[in-house]
Amino acid sequence: MNAPIDSSKLKYTKKDFVSDQDVRWCPGCGDYAILAQVQKVMPDLGIPKEKIVFVSGIGCSSRFPYYMDTYGFHTIHGRAPAIASGLRLARKDLSIWVVTGDGDALSIGGNHLIHALRRNIGIKILMFNNRIYGLTKGQFSPTSQRGQVTKSSPGGSVASPFSAPFLALGAQATFVARSVDTDTQHLQQMIKRVAEHKGTAFLEIYQNCPVFNDGTFAELKDRSTKAEQLLELEHGQPLVYGTNRSRAIRLNPKSQTLYSADASGQDGGVELVHDEQAVNPAIASLLAQHPQPGMPTPIGVFRALDVPTFEEQTWRQSNSEIEQKGAGTLDELLDAGDRWDL
Ligand code: SF4
Repeated sequence: MNAPIDSSKLKYTKKDFVSDQDVRWCPGCGDYAILAQVQKVMPDLGIPKEKIVFVSGIGCSSRFPYYMDTYGFHTIHGRAPAIASGLRLARKDLSIWVVTGDGDALSIGGNHLIHALRRNIGIKILMFNNRIYGLTKGQFSPTSQRGQVTKSSPGGSVASPFSAPFLALGAQATFVARSVDTDTQHLQQMIKRVAEHKGTAFLEIYQNCPVFNDGTFAELKDRSTKAEQLLELEHGQPLVYGTNRSRAIRLNPKSQTLYSADASGQDGGVELVHDEQAVNPAIASLLAQHPQPGMPTPIGVFRALDVPTFEEQTWRQSNSEIEQKGAGTLDELLDAGDRWDL
């Protein structure tokens, strides 16, 4: 058996995580920026490369494992969380990442995603949201906006889009966050937070698709509008935003809705301080809903709860069985209990 690796002696750089594969995304795709930040953060995690796995489904973002010089698995549409979950249960020692898109995660794989989140199994899910199906050339996706004209909605999409963090909170996710592809510092911070979380960590990353949905997040990136459009969630800090932090998010105690107000005024609303560790997800869920007109879009960590993971509890049960009955063999298992004899 090999001696355990002392991770404090690892001296990786970003280059160590760059594979020899040609990157085949369209020029200007937001996926490049996300790949660069993931490769930049990896050396800081102190995890041996051979202990890192990227698992993907199908879609533009799902080419990600080819470009990381780690282990990787390009799997089937929407099923990356299921495959990653199996890997988690079989291998305690791995850092397991799922890379998926809004179509792969929320449509084809919606069922797998919600159950991974509900179970709180130790996988890290990066969901690139470009509000479109890019690989299949521009059909509306579960996050496409109402009225969005696409190849499959020439009259404008008539369906309500999912808010991915709202959905994740509804599925009882213990870590939910959002970032933006071009906000490099913020994205790096969020990737590190994802890496640190021991249960299912879900990070939505707003990603531009310049070919089929260009500029969908432009107002959140443009220097002239960004301050008024983005609310950065910081644990323990008041929910304020805007130029000179002049706007505050408050709670209307009667209607239980959030609204934006002048931060220096008093109007009977409840001042809010962000608490990502709140056990009750009510305020996080209000923040995670689609912003109403006049409200900013939150980025940052909506929720981060430290609770036992699915695998910890599963391993505890199996260890207890093994202690009582011995390790056993596969044949003994197959012959145990009721069975059909032909
Ligand atoms: Fe990126 Fe869009 Fe091209 Fe896909 S189609 S690689 S999302 S720019």
